[in-house]
Parts: sequence; C-alpha cells; structure tokens
Amino acid sequence: MRRARVVVIGAGHNGLVCAAYLARAGLDVKVLERRQVIGGAAVTEEIVPGFRASSASYSLSLLRPDIYQELELAKHGLEFYPKDPQLFLPLPDGRHFFLWRDESRSLAEIEGIAPGDADGYRKFNAFWEEAVALLRPAVEATEPPSLDELRAYLAGKGREEVWRYGVAGSAADLVSRFFSSEEMRGAFASQGIIGTARSVYDPGTAWVMAYHYLGGELNGAGGTWAYVRGGMGGVSDSIAGAAREAGAEIWIDSPVGELMVEGGRAAGVVFADGREIPATVVISNLDPKRTFLSLVPGGALDADFLEKVRRFETKGCVLKLNAAISELPNFTSCPGAGPQHRGTIELSFSLEHLDHAFSDAARQGFSTTPFMEVFIQSVTDPNLAPAGKHVLSAFTQYVSTDVAADWEQVKASATESVLALLESLAPGFRESILAMDVLGPPELEEKLGLTDGDIFHGQILPEQSFAERFAYRTPLAGLYLCGSGASPGGGVMGAAGRNAARVVLQDVVDA
Ligand SMILES: Cc1cc2nc3c(=O)[nH]c(=O)nc-3n(C[C@H](O)[C@H](O)[C@H](O)COP(=O)(O)OP(=O)(O)OC[C@H]3O[C@@H](n4cnc5c(N)ncnc54)[C@H](O)[C@@H]3O)c2cc1C
Repeated sequence: MRRARVVVIGAGHNGLVCAAYLARAGLDVKVLERRQVIGGAAVTEEIVPGFRASSASYSLSLLRPDIYQELELAKHGLEFYPKDPQLFLPLPDGRHFFLWRDESRSLAEIEGIAPGDADGYRKFNAFWEEAVALLRPAVEATEPPSLDELRAYLAGKGREEVWRYGVAGSAADLVSRFFSSEEMRGAFASQGIIGTARSVYDPGTAWVMAYHYLGGELNGAGGTWAYVRGGMGGVSDSIAGAAREAGAEIWIDSPVGELMVEGGRAAGVVFADGREIPATVVISNLDPKRTFLSLVPGGALDADFLEKVRRFETKGCVLKLNAAISELPNFTSCPGAGPQHRGTIELSFSLEHLDHAFSDAARQGFSTTPFMEVFIQSVTDPNLAPAGKHVLSAFTQYVSTDVAADWEQVKASATESVLALLESLAPGFRESILAMDVLGPPELEEKLGLTDGDIFHGQILPEQSFAERFAYRTPLAGLYLCGSGASPGGGVMGAAGRNAARVVLQDVVDA
C-alpha cells in the first residue's frame, strides 16, 4: 500500500512535532523550511562569531511532558537547566529580591521586601495549582471548548473565580487580590502582558498570565522555567532528531510559494521557484494570516472565513535585544557575581511601571521605562560564549509600529530606553557591549515570518483562545494548521503540533 504523502510547511517546533508523530505513524512526511536553520522562533543563532543566543524565545516551561517522553527528546539531546533563582528583581530604589524554586526560600525574600505578602504568595501559588489543573484539559483538547462552555464548566465545579481571575479579568486584578505591595504586584503581573499589546489593567490579561503558568512539569514544579542546553534551538533540534529517526525528511532553504488546490482540496505545494510537490495532506506551521491570505490561492476559501482571518488580531509589541558582552553587569543593588546572573532578571517594578510602559508605547511607539526580562544564559551554559565573556538577551516591551511612520527611529529610541534602564541599575553596562542585534516587530516578521511580528502567531487573549482560536482542520479539505495560530496558542509547547497530527491521523485512517 502506498503511504500517504504529507507535506508540513515550516520547521518551527510545532511543525517538527507534527512531522515526528506522523512519521512514527508510518506516513511519508516532508518538512519544508524557508530558512537555512530549523526551529522558527525556537532557535539558537550566532550573533557574532563565538557568541550564540536564543535569538527569539528564551525560556522553556510549557513543553508538554508527554511529547518529551513519547518522542524521546532526552535521547535526541534535549537537556534543560531549571533556573534557580527563577527571578532576580532589582528595584529602582536600590533594593532587590529573589524568587527561588523553593517556595520557603522565596517566602523569606518576600517578607524582607513586603512584610505581609508572603501569605499572599502561598495563596497565589495554591490558586495557580488548582486553576491550571482545571484549565489544562481545555488547552490540550483537539476540540477545545467555547468560552461559554469553559465558563459553565468552571461554574459547574464551583470555581467561578478561576474564570474571573484566571481567564476573563485583568492581570492587575489578579495580583491585587493576593498581594498588597506594589513590588509583588509588579513582579507577578508581568506574565499577563508577555507578547500582548495590552495594558496590565485590560480584561483578558489574566488568561495570558494563566497561559504562562500552564507548564513547568518538566522543571519539577508548576510554572517554573528553564534554560535549554545550547539555547532554545536545542528543543527544535531534538524534535527534528526524533522526526528524522522516524523517517521524516526536513528540507531547509525551501520556501513554499503557494498551495496547490485540485478539485476543491489541497493537493500539494509549489515552491517559490515553481517546483511542485504533490501531497495527500498539507499541514501549515505558518500563522493563520500567512497560511490563508498568502499561501492559499484566491477563490479556494469563502469570504466569511477570510474575513475571520483578517480580523484575527496579530500585533507585535516586543523588542528583543541580543548582545555579546565583555563582562557581567554589576548591579548596584546586588554587586559582584552571583545568583543575580543565573535566573531571569525581571525589571517589572509595579503595576504603574507596567501600565506606563504600555501607555508610552501607545503614544510614542516605545516605553520610556520598558518592562524587561533579561537573561545571561552563558553563566549557566558557558559554551555559548568565549571564555570570560557572555551573551545577554533582553525581552522588552512595549514597542508599537502604529504610531510613527519611521520604524528605524522608534527602534533607536526603544533600544536607547532599554540600554538606559540597564545602565541605571548596573552602571558600566553600556561599555561592556561588544555587539548587539535588535529585533522589533518588523525584523521578527522578516526573519521568522511572524505576521506583524506577533510572537504568538496572534494575540492569546481569551477572545482568540480555546474554540475561538483556529482549528487544526481548515475549511479547505486536505489542509491543516499545526502552529501557534491554532489552539491552544503560542509558546514552545508543542501541543498544536501534536494535536494536529492526531486530527490528521483520524482523517487519514477514516478515509
Ligand atoms: C522574541 C520572542 C520571544 C519568545 N519567548 C518565548 C519564551 O521564552 N518561551 C516560550 O515558550 N515561548 C516564547 N515565544 C513564543 C514561541 O517562541 C512561539 O510561540 C513558538 O516558537 C512558535 O512555534 P511554531 O512552531 O508554532 O511557529 P514558528 O516558530 O513561527 O515556525 C514557523 C516556521 O515556518 C517557517 N516558514 C514561514 N514561511 C514559510 C514558507 N513560505 N515556506 C516554508 N517555511 C516557512 C518559518 O521560517 C518558521 O520556521 C517567543 C517568541 C518570540 C518571537
């Protein structure tokens, strides 16, 4: 019997997960990647000779443990180092605190900064443990619930507050419920605005926060984050290893130009240079806008569906700065070398800080005092930089391309704000920079193919999540989605890739 030919467009980690499962099920799988490097936004790249960085995504938590086990990713080289401390939080007034993997250690730190908030921290952790247990099945389902169904399900369990504080509400409301100090509110609320062009006070940012608590199992505790050995490309390379072992072919430098449609169904792909590959099933790892508005030829999809695609909100708000540095930053609040360089350096001082960062960008295109997650992975993983030197990356918000016509000018101002804030906390930082690569929404779009530079293939607010996100089956027979624009959404999680593979297998077996 001839094996069904499957083409996966794009070798992001989700495309690779999907390919690995389908190849293991015996299908003839080809993955076609536009770039010369696989991994999409889960990638390690050399920024200047000798310095390698996770140029886009930087921390691992969400990857589903069953994917790790079923695809034997450890055997294929995936290794990670849970961050400890998870966070180092220098404050502008010269104080600092740490959050460790060990809750009791964090409680002592919190007592030192915000007496009274330690109890809130315990309750906050307990809230997430329960909320995540309730929400995770909805995220992992191949047919996720609608928002109404989810709300009714939570109400049925007597847990309306998980709906209110963990899905529909704002990150600011959520943290204010548990913490009374601005330091703690700021420290935790930032997870509600990651990649999201909204203020921390906007409804739905609670769900963005919940999303960032969905993982952590591989790191030994819910919601915890890790470095990947060799950078985030290590995730993609290990999945690619599993896919190749199962027989999948992965072609780089192979940009797909268009989908072939015959008799009302997907019939293969056409490369940018005109070559064709016929296929029974085509799976797109591209975001929904790129898939349906660029790859699918006109007339193959109905107008209502295309309107839904156009309305799907994609918005870049992140500026990622990757730098080669000659020495570690010396923080005034915590001088010398030590744990302050090992975890994520979280510059998220208060709700007001985060809200101002948002309103600045809405007005002038960049935040005067940005929110940042900074990390120096080479401290934990010295192979990433020459001896004695380091790679530093800063994930920063907000930027906006809507305000000023001249992006280069906005980018220069945004970069300057990032450097100025780091310099104010660690004097001498600027002088340590040997080279720097800065990626804002236009660069993320050009380099990684992310529409509007949206890091999640589309905002992950509730109105674009669960059944409201795109399904794996598309209205065009034979065409499927397996990337972050499909449910459950973005992040290095692999769930969309695995769910898409499940759905394809159901259809191929039933056919
Ligand atoms: C700056 C940044 C920081 C982030 N930080 C984190 C983090 O720390 N932790 C986390 O969990 N998540 C993070 N994310 C989100 C996460 O990285 C993404 O949601 C996830 O990696 C997307 O994976 P994907 O496989 O769905 O799609 P992608 O990674 O976008 O893969 C799509 C692939 O398709 C390819 N492609 C595009 N067009 C074509 C074409 N025409 N032909 C062939 N191939 C094509 C692309 O080159 C790409 O390889 C971050 C993202 C960014 C951008």
